[in-house]
Amino acid sequence: MSFLLTCPNCGPREVTDFAFGGEVTARPAGRPDRRELNAYVYFRDNVAGVQREWWLHRSGCRQWFLAERDTRTNAVAWTARPEEAPAAGGDRAA
Ligand SMILES: [Zn+2]
Repeated sequence: MSFLLTCPNCGPREVTDFAFGGEVTARPAGRPDRRELNAYVYFRDNVAGVQREWWLHRSGCRQWFLAERDTRTNAVAWTARPEEAPAAGGDRAA
């Protein structure tokens, strides 16, 4: 697996410069019961397709950012600082 990922601070770099932080998850609203907390901590969608993810520029600016990547092709649609990311497109809604 090798592809380019564009750090919002540093620009395009080999993916080996980065650490994968997992898919973006939705925190439970309010105080979760044990089942909701378990699902939040341990369960992931692991989609075969486009998902929103956390990445850390480990060998660069050491900042976390968001990316939307197709897990089948590693095509990256966009990367952005968390505060600048497009609104979630319903990938975790409902
Ligand atoms: Zn960077």
